[in-house]
Amino acid sequence: MSSIIDGTAIAKKIQEQIAQAISPLSRKPGLAFFLVGNDPASQTYIRMKKKRCEEVGILSFDCVLPETVTEEKLLSEIEKYNQDPSVDGILVQLPLPSHINTMNVMTTVDPSKDVDGFHPMNVGKMLLGENSGFLPCTPHGVQVLLTHAQIPILGKHVVIVGRSNIVGKPLAAILMQKAPHCNATVTVAHSLTENLKEICRSADILVAAMGSPRFIKGDMVKEGAVVIDVGINRAKKNGDQSIVGDVDFEAVAPLCSYITPVPGGVGPMTIAILLSNTLLSYQRRKGK
Ligand code: NAP
Repeated sequence: MSSIIDGTAIAKKIQEQIAQAISPLSRKPGLAFFLVGNDPASQTYIRMKKKRCEEVGILSFDCVLPETVTEEKLLSEIEKYNQDPSVDGILVQLPLPSHINTMNVMTTVDPSKDVDGFHPMNVGKMLLGENSGFLPCTPHGVQVLLTHAQIPILGKHVVIVGRSNIVGKPLAAILMQKAPHCNATVTVAHSLTENLKEICRSADILVAAMGSPRFIKGDMVKEGAVVIDVGINRAKKNGDQSIVGDVDFEAVAPLCSYITPVPGGVGPMTIAILLSNTLLSYQRRKGK
């Protein structure tokens, strides 16, 4: 039977360190939250992130705009926070309504306040292995989770199922870097990949990031592999609405050496890295 990697406990440790670093500061770090429209999932994510901010001493700034807001208005609001010295980080909750160009929004956020790590400047720095940017929260959270759980990455074959810009692609870029806690051999699979089962079975570390409930079954996992489940899917379980991952936990857990649960695995790490990026931004700003 595998060991469960407790993402909640690891995230809590990181949050305690952040709270300790913030507690003596006279000006507290500030994080601005942009929410456009009334999507309940987005509202929940922002609520959770704001709660964690409060716990560690980061000030939240709210910018809630209606679904019908023009792109021009949204960009001008972002500009205000770019200029505001009490704001160290700007987070625009995705997805945005279809009439707004997400790339225009991402490129309007000042790269030095882009604590989500989505600005092309920060994506470029990540690819180059240049440390002056921000790494995106979920993929960096996976790397930190593996490191805290003392799972070797160097030289291992990591298979990532999913090639999105926010999870799969950046995770591949991070884990293949010639740097500490990286140096993996990475394969990225997607919906058009042939022989997916065989590729997954060749993984020392298998990362499921596809958004397909319980897709990864026991016959897709090598015995003794490490399985990281990034998926967050709303599904009916025993008649109740619940959150399930991309891995069939009951079938896979007995086979692998380590596994992350959903919830309580990667999710809390994403928020911990957001807080950590906000503190990092504050420290860089103060050092100027
Ligand atoms: P996404 O943008 O929908 O991308 C899904 C990726 O999975 C795509 O590359 C897609 O391939 C691939 N895929 C889908 N079905 C597949 C299949 N049957 N076989 C192989 N590949 C398949 O999703 P995302 O934004 O990366 O999110 C992925 C999951 O992670 C979701 O459940 C999301 O809720 C969750 N998530 C969790 C966190 C967290 O904090 N824990 C953060 C972000 C996302 P194509 O490119 O070919 O379409």
